[in-house]
Amino acid sequence: MQWLENAPDGARLPVATPLKEVEAAALDAGVLVLEFDAFRDGRGFSLAAVLRERGYRGRLIADGHLLPDQARHLRRSGFDGVVLGAGADLAAWQRMDAAFSATYQPVEDRAVPIWRRRGLARTPGALVERLNLQTRGADAESILRAALDPSLGLKPAVLSSFGAEAAVLLSLVARIDPSTPVVFLETGMHFLQTLAYRTALSERLGLSDIRLVTPDARERAEVDPRDDLWRTDADACCDLRKVRPLDRALAGIDAVITGRKQRQTAERASLQPFERFEGRIRINPLHDWSAERLQAWYDAEDLPGHPLVAQGYPSIGCWPCTQAVEGGEDARFGRWSGAAKTECGIHLGRRALAVG
Ligand code: SF4
Repeated sequence: MQWLENAPDGARLPVATPLKEVEAAALDAGVLVLEFDAFRDGRGFSLAAVLRERGYRGRLIADGHLLPDQARHLRRSGFDGVVLGAGADLAAWQRMDAAFSATYQPVEDRAVPIWRRRGLARTPGALVERLNLQTRGADAESILRAALDPSLGLKPAVLSSFGAEAAVLLSLVARIDPSTPVVFLETGMHFLQTLAYRTALSERLGLSDIRLVTPDARERAEVDPRDDLWRTDADACCDLRKVRPLDRALAGIDAVITGRKQRQTAERASLQPFERFEGRIRINPLHDWSAERLQAWYDAEDLPGHPLVAQGYPSIGCWPCTQAVEGGEDARFGRWSGAAKTECGIHLGRRALAVG
């Protein structure tokens, strides 16, 4: 939007001019100035929107009795300049032009109105498609900002294991909204170092809503009374300690933010920033991050690392199912080492698990 002291040369018409006459004038006009007699007169906004809709690409200038509160609506209607005159409060016009991030009506600028966003939020497939298009090539913070935009009406939560790479995602979330819920699956099988790291990192980042999710006590007593199911049936153990508790914890949550990356497993190789998963939206801001990029973020932000990383654990889960790896081995090699299992199941869905 241009803030003008004087109107440029061009065709001038009062906003009371019939549309046909305005369109005729616009045919030959590189500059068209619409004169407002009163700020309450909405006809100028309608004329501008119709002219833009019908293809007028010349300069469209508003002149006359207008208020700073109307700055954004003028721009959204298709005006690209306003004559303020000498001595106008330019800062007020600029402030009001930037004051609102959401829109209510669909007009020339193609911004998605709030009612439409809420509608899209109720149809996850369409919303996922739009968000993937909107954030194509965007960095992780922009993906997260899009996901956490309150006008979407989503109820999001972060899923974090507070493992080897967790601090990057959590630091990005904390930058935008440290009150975002963070779900931690307290399986009862974590390394003590992980529990201490969870506390220290949460405090450092100012995360205020850490939700510890535990297995159901009765199910645990029935299915795994000696806490050794992991020895004989790791899928059933993960189902008991991770998949079922997470199902319960996510009641009321419709968007889950994860730290998954394409490079981690074959199943994740084509991971997108946004995806649908069992009725929810899943958000993967770090989907294309390499290990080097991750490390650079740790260094730049001076983030504390998980203490076990320095002892040879590049990927960290429950202690019975996590081993240190040799230098040069794949980071995920130490997870369920020696078994065909590569995922605990929370990211695969219940239907994908063969739980006996
Ligand atoms: S990772 Fe191992 S110990 Fe943890 S829930 Fe799964 S099978 Fe059980």
